[in-house]
Amino acid sequence: MSVLRFDNVSKQYGGGHTALSEVSFDVAAGEMLFVTGHSGAGKSTLLKLIHLSERPSRGTVLFREKNLLKVRGGKVALHRRNVGVVYQDHRLLADRSVADNVALPLLLRGLRRGDIAKRVRVVLERVGLGARANALPTQLSAGEQQRVGIARAVVTEPALLVADEPTGNLDPTLSAEILALFESLPERGTSVLVASHDLGLVKRMRKRVLVLNQGRLVDDIRPEELAE
Ligand code: ADP
Ligand code: ADP
Repeated sequence: MSVLRFDNVSKQYGGGHTALSEVSFDVAAGEMLFVTGHSGAGKSTLLKLIHLSERPSRGTVLFREKNLLKVRGGKVALHRRNVGVVYQDHRLLADRSVADNVALPLLLRGLRRGDIAKRVRVVLERVGLGARANALPTQLSAGEQQRVGIARAVVTEPALLVADEPTGNLDPTLSAEILALFESLPERGTSVLVASHDLGLVKRMRKRVLVLNQGRLVDDIRPEELAE
């Protein structure tokens, strides 16, 4: 089944600047892929159309076969529950512990405290931060902070995980570690879409790669093509 489909999607911002131009692609359930391209190519815009912080000018975005144009008002928040988002700057709450940051999306869903504590513990173990649950984000390294951001995004078991330059602030070794986490961490069946301008890093992951250039989808590289 397709989790996400872009069908001839274009996006113009006010002032007439074209950020995306007739972009079409399909993402299967459980698939992991990257979107790459230089700064300004349209990567962030593409992700924003998925979590509905922007709307297409033309074309349709389908999420689990549903046209996102029809998702409006209060339904936007419900849609976002199915999409986990990881930011470059991770956007952690500085005055809350690591565990509280990861617990937040579950609290908002009204889960019971006992269940929340259990799930947070499991996810923090899996990102290697079991021992740092009570630390404040500022007491962690940049790589650890990004791990918390990823834990927070997957703790709700979303159908799709999207990340915008999640390794932008990290050195190459840490970046590779974080990308490996995106591969290993989500539940089976979760699709993962990671935007990164770092084509070299992305290619080493041997996954499908969408390449944007000035808003156009100019390549859709399959893992088989990266075999060498
Ligand atoms: P990337 O993430 O690949 O760097 P973006 O999607 O951020 O690309 O931007 C694509 C293009 O759209 C760029 O030229 C950028 O300046 C422009 N852009 C992005 N957001 C806006 C906005 N809110 N208003 C006007 N132009 C924008
Ligand atoms: P984000 O925090 O979502 O990554 P950015 O840092 O890309 O957002 O941009 C911050 C804000 O500025 C966003 O609302 C984005 O749409 C807007 N923006 C980005 N590029 C431009 C641009 N060239 N002109 C006007 N607004 C822009």
